[in-house]
Parts: sequence; C-alpha cells; structure tokens
Amino acid sequence: MSSRVRSAVIVLLAAVAVIVGAAHRGTPEAAQAGEAAATDVKAGARLLPGVPTSATAPVPEVNSAGTRSLTGREGNTVALTFDDGPHPDYTPAVLDILREYDVVATFCLVGPNAKQWPDLVRDIVADGHVLCNHTVNHDVHLPGRDRGRIDDELGGALDAILAAVPEATVPFYRAPGGNFAENVNDVARSLGHTPLGWSIDPGDWKQPGASRIRDDVITSMHPGAVVLFHDGGGDRSGTVAALPAIIEALRDAGYEFVVPAA
Ligand SMILES: [Zn+2]
Repeated sequence: MSSRVRSAVIVLLAAVAVIVGAAHRGTPEAAQAGEAAATDVKAGARLLPGVPTSATAPVPEVNSAGTRSLTGREGNTVALTFDDGPHPDYTPAVLDILREYDVVATFCLVGPNAKQWPDLVRDIVADGHVLCNHTVNHDVHLPGRDRGRIDDELGGALDAILAAVPEATVPFYRAPGGNFAENVNDVARSLGHTPLGWSIDPGDWKQPGASRIRDDVITSMHPGAVVLFHDGGGDRSGTVAALPAIIEALRDAGYEFVVPAA
C-alpha cells in the first residue's frame, strides 16, 4: 500500500482506539478504575498488523497513590494479568495456553476461590506464574471501609493463597474494580504487595466475544502495557478463545511477555 494510504489507515485505527478507550471510560468498572488506568498510560507506539513497533522503552509508571500501571521493564514488553480466579474451568484452560506458548502471566486471586481450589493455585505457581492478592470479598468500595476491614480483606486473601502455596510469594495487590487508593495501598505494601493496575482493559468481563477482545488488545497495545483479563467471575470462554491469537500477534510484533516490576 502507498505511504499515504498507510498513513490514513494508521490515523483511522488510532481514532478507533481512542473511541474504544472513551467507551471504556464510560463503564462503571472503568470509572472505578479511575486515574490508575486512565492517566498512567503513556502514548506509546500502537501495534498494527504489518507495521513495525517502536523500540521506545516504557517509563516505569507509578501514580501518586503508588499504583503501578505499566510493566516497568525495558523494551517492547507486555504483562498479561488474569483476575477473579482461580476457576475450575477457565484457569486450567488459560494455563494450558500459556504453557503451549511459553508465556508468563500474573494471576490476581480472590480468597474464597483460592481456598476452594488450592490445586489450581499450586498449578499456577508450578507453571512459573506470579500471584497477586485480589482480596476476599471483591469489595469495590474498599477504600471507604475502616482499617480493620481492609486488613481482613487483604490479610484473609493472602492467608488463603499461602495455605495452598506456603513457600510462594505474592508480589502484587490488585484493587477490586480497579478502585486503588492510598489507604488500601498502604496495607497492601505492609503485606509485601506492589499495587498493580493496568493500561489496557478489553472489557472481557462484559463478554463482548473473542474477536472484540482480541482486536481491542491488539489495537491498544503499547510498550510496557499491562493487560487486564479475567479467568473467573463469570463465563470467560471468550477470553480463553481470544488468548492464542493475542499472544501470536504480540509475539509476531516483537513483544516480550513479562511479569511487572514489583
Ligand atoms: Zn476483580
């Protein structure tokens, strides 16, 4: 294609990405995510089929409340994260795909699920993936609760995880609904967790279908991205179905899959 046509295509796709992003910011989940997801995103190179990505290194990006939303790793890196599990159907399916492609990921577990399916927690760790505390009750209003409640939510989930994998570390905390705040982040840090947000949210929890999830992640991609997926909390078959194509597209574009800096 001519350079003029290619430029027009790039402009068009960038516009679509902006519109899709604006639509996401209108959702309750994204609204709860607030600044962590919306303001930490650097305008990085867009990943487009057939278009080389920029070699721009990501800036380790941590907001004023101490929430990390980019990988903090040099080069064209991307971190895949999976929330609300483990789940007896979708977590094994995700693990199979990650194993097939030799991709590392971060799993943000809720306490009762870790307690109910400790074998899945052990499988996650045995495959070399990294754990993240996603609280006991997934209370999206956690920043407004008293200190004792916050301690119970994070401490309880950590206990449930460590009951399954006593030797493991849990380097990250992810706020329910992305509702990060300084008071909860302080508790998270006291437990050894780095608060971990994200920079790309394909809204897979709304079950838009595998092709929408795939296209959204690929057109939004930038170096240092942290991608929010879900392997629990509902029907995640679309997420599972989208995953191989996403991994292949990113790898073809030169992306390296990483665990974020703690
Ligand atoms: Zn969640």
